[in-house]
Amino acid sequence: MTKIRKVLVVDNNATIVELLSAHLAGAGYEVAKAFDGLQALDRLVETDTLPDVILLDLIMPRLDGQRLTRFLKQDELYCAIPIIILTGIASEDEGAILSFGADAYIAKGRIEDTMVNVFETFRWLEGRATAGETRDVVLGVEKLFPREMTRELLHIKGHLDTMLAMMEEGVVEIDQDHRILYANPAACRLIGGGDHQLFGKGLSSFFDTKDSLERYFGSVPCGATATAPPLQVEHGHRVLRITFSKLLDQSNYCGALVILNDVTEQVRRERSLLELMEAIVRHAPVGLCLLDASEAILAANPAFGRILRQPEGRATLGTPLRNYLTGSGLAQESLLPPLADAGAGETRNIEFTTAVFPERIVLTTSATVIDTAEGRRVLLLIEDVTEKAAMERDLRRVNEELAKANRAKSTFLSMVSHELRTPLSVVRGYLSLILEGKIGPDPERILDALRVADKRARHLQHLIEELLDLSRIESGRLSLHKEPVAVGKHAREVVEMFRGDQDRKKLSIEIEIPETLPDALADHDKIHQIFTNFLSNAVKFTGEGGRIVVSGRVAGSMLEFVVADSGIGIPADKISRVFDKFYQVDSSDKRMYPGTGLGLAIVKMIVTALGGTVQVESQVGAGSTFTFTLPQAGAAAPAAAAPEPTPAALPTAVSALPAGVERTRVLVIDDDLDTLALTRLLLPETDFEVVEAYDAFAGMREFYFHFPDIVLVDALLPLMSGLELCRVIKSHPELGSIPVVILSAAAQEEEIRSGYRVGANAYLVKPFRSQDLLDTVRRLTNRQPD
Ligand code: ADP
Repeated sequence: MTKIRKVLVVDNNATIVELLSAHLAGAGYEVAKAFDGLQALDRLVETDTLPDVILLDLIMPRLDGQRLTRFLKQDELYCAIPIIILTGIASEDEGAILSFGADAYIAKGRIEDTMVNVFETFRWLEGRATAGETRDVVLGVEKLFPREMTRELLHIKGHLDTMLAMMEEGVVEIDQDHRILYANPAACRLIGGGDHQLFGKGLSSFFDTKDSLERYFGSVPCGATATAPPLQVEHGHRVLRITFSKLLDQSNYCGALVILNDVTEQVRRERSLLELMEAIVRHAPVGLCLLDASEAILAANPAFGRILRQPEGRATLGTPLRNYLTGSGLAQESLLPPLADAGAGETRNIEFTTAVFPERIVLTTSATVIDTAEGRRVLLLIEDVTEKAAMERDLRRVNEELAKANRAKSTFLSMVSHELRTPLSVVRGYLSLILEGKIGPDPERILDALRVADKRARHLQHLIEELLDLSRIESGRLSLHKEPVAVGKHAREVVEMFRGDQDRKKLSIEIEIPETLPDALADHDKIHQIFTNFLSNAVKFTGEGGRIVVSGRVAGSMLEFVVADSGIGIPADKISRVFDKFYQVDSSDKRMYPGTGLGLAIVKMIVTALGGTVQVESQVGAGSTFTFTLPQAGAAAPAAAAPEPTPAALPTAVSALPAGVERTRVLVIDDDLDTLALTRLLLPETDFEVVEAYDAFAGMREFYFHFPDIVLVDALLPLMSGLELCRVIKSHPELGSIPVVILSAAAQEEEIRSGYRVGANAYLVKPFRSQDLLDTVRRLTNRQPD
């Protein structure tokens, strides 16, 4: 190395700098002085001729000798300048000092001793073989004594250095010009670069957002607790939160400590949460809007605009809410009065309806008060409840209908019980008169009383049958066997049934139904029932010598039938009700005409079910005309389905038991003793031997003692029902051929069918006519001639 001429002396102790400089100048050296690490850097930057050697103190505030050495040795401009570290802590930290990367080390002692070592080191430098050669001794250390306190402080410093190195947060120290003096490893990683690359450079120069960073640094107040709220900046693929705290040196601003936090992950999570919230608000079916204190709209989601029928579903920001709510039931001017005493976060329900739109829209809202730094805000929630309201209306209507139906059912039941009690009381009345002997011994009077009771009992039966018809029809169980029906034939048959009444009342009944009239698509039984009803009414309500005409004709695609009479007629104000259930023009106790008031109601339902209509025209005193229509049976009319056998389908012809034929043994099984006794009475002893049993098991026993010719069994029996017994008999290899007749009060079609399904040969509905029972038993036991 060439001779040393210029020396840079660096020490924060001014006395030492001056002493060293004086000695060096005295020995002919050119001397430059610096009183801390930063000044030393400045000197190097300012000078035209770099020093030939640097005498550098180790312990200095902020930028110490070690950090300056590391920087200079890594800088291509300065790395060739030899550095001699002058240290006051050589005896406490000799081992560590030697690793600092300087060229030579001298312990600070008396100035004379130090200068000897300085000059000796100069000579060594001038004479060393290579520039990279360093000395691994500290000259002059032998004259010093170690100090315990210094050793401890050095230990603490080492500990702090380790902590800084291990911290996750980046720690950067900058000077008042924001140049980096220190960056811990985390800071180097976050900023991007080794510490020698960062050292001395402006911190903000590493960021794209340089200006905002400088503004932020500038905004931080200077003071003991001068920390500004953190600044978040994007840096490469990272997001850093930067906190800046100004450092004071004896109340003078001397730089700052900057803490860098990597908040990339946190920000990413916050952003995705925010996006999620935005999506929820954007897609929410309820309308949300934020109002300011003057109730102007600050923000609104698409549903809000849609519900208020705004173009493209967008509410105009800044517009007062009331502009959208004209005509609403809401306090016209303002929403806020109901919220006046509401605290932050409190929600109040505000209900209003609005008629601003062509269709009526009902909106219910709730409002939540939010207090922000900018003042009071109201989060308003609106909902389009038009459909909900319509559904509620429908539900109310259905409920009303149900209540009406319930009331109708109660009325119907009380009417039914009244209609049943009336004939029953007559029957019981006459029977008790006879039983108590109040009629007297005259057989003719007794017979008269029994005839009345019988008539009313028949009426009761008729009523029950009509009620069952009604229940079948109303519960949708009316089974129709539609097929081509020659209606004229039925009309004539029914007229024939009334021949007795016709003669008694000297009525003229004419039938004007052409033989050529096409068939109707209808049900045989029902046509019979319809005509029976109309004609029985006509006969009933027409006085002696009156006239009844039954006619039929084609009317378009339909057939039209008329039953007209010259009877008492129906008052105009009552005519619309004659098809109502139980309705009778005269329903007083003293009424002249018997009846149930159900016939026309049933007829109307049947005709409707067959696809026709019924009407009535009438004039009091002039007569009534009932007209009904039926569809014609077209060429494509469905083939008649064979109806299941019903009691009505059973032959009813009667004849006497041929002479010489043995008595028929009839096994009667019924748990009702009176029914057993009655059945025995109905089967004359001359022709029948009756064996009785009270339940199915007793009945089966009788098979062994009195093998019967026929079994009559009640459908409902305890333990084993009559239907089950019938199934057992019919599936038995030897007994299967014995005819079984089910006797039952169950008269619904389905119940009758289930009787036939278990193999019964006949099914008689209680109460049955005695003749029907005799006919059935005789027919099934072949005791009658064909
Ligand atoms: P019912 O004849 O059993 O009373 P209907 O339902 O058949 O019941 O008839 C209801 C009412 O309509 C009768 O009570 C009667 O007041 C009136 N009505 C029916 N047919 C005639 C008719 N041909 N002439 C006068 N009134 C009639």
